[in-house]
Amino acid sequence: MMKIDILTLFPEMFNGVLGSSILHKAAEKAAVEYNLVNFRDFSDNKHSSVDDYPYGGGAGMVLMPQPIFDAVAVLKEKAQSSPRVILLCPQGTRYDQKKAEELAKEDHLIFICGHYEGYDERIRESLVTDEISIGDYVLTGGELGAMVVIDSVVRLLPEVLGNQESHMKDSFSTGLLEHPHYTRPADFRGMKVPDVLMSGNHRLIEEWRNKEALRRTLLRRPDLLEKIELTPDQKKWLAEVKKESM
Ligand code: SAM
Repeated sequence: MMKIDILTLFPEMFNGVLGSSILHKAAEKAAVEYNLVNFRDFSDNKHSSVDDYPYGGGAGMVLMPQPIFDAVAVLKEKAQSSPRVILLCPQGTRYDQKKAEELAKEDHLIFICGHYEGYDERIRESLVTDEISIGDYVLTGGELGAMVVIDSVVRLLPEVLGNQESHMKDSFSTGLLEHPHYTRPADFRGMKVPDVLMSGNHRLIEEWRNKEALRRTLLRRPDLLEKIELTPDQKKWLAEVKKESM
């Protein structure tokens, strides 16, 4: 079972996300255990404060090292294995599916959600193993970022998704964007489902899906095509797609 500890000043923000859908089912199946920790509870000063003014002056408050160092130390003492300690931070490495797959192999993750102006630099230097940014924009706190990372990791854990919801063909898992999907009706207000999908010919359907995944990737994310080794069939389909788009 994967253990996930979340250090946050706003644990209530996680109730809806961890209590719904796949993340909730994963905990029910005992594939994962979530532990929300308010690091204010670890503050050793009489006002339970967790932040202070920045040395050198300037706007905003900075998270102090003591409550976060002590909270992580207690979690590590109880740990069965050496946890990854992940700092959510707009200055971190940009998050992607490869990182999700890497984290899904771990037994224990500790997430630190920041707030205010940021963290005391010693947290970054001496406590964390990974700094993750979920994109080039600034959020109020790390909670939404932690939810994004946790969702994308937990759905990869064995037995969390059934066959119906398998992630194997998801965008990025294959190195490409996924092919388009259609469901009933076959004709919706004059917009028709491609004939091949209703042909019952599984080889042709598979070929169409492979080709459309390549077409979509070429149009929307050509950078992904530079990063993967295409099979001889994929090379042939990509050449066809390029010719068709000329
Ligand atoms: N002053 C900081 C800076 O410019 O790098 C931004 C601090 S931000 C207002 C407060 C917290 O939100 C951060 O410490 C981090 O935990 C979280 N955060 C903001 N943007 C994020 C992003 N793109 N990815 C992950 N976490 C983010």
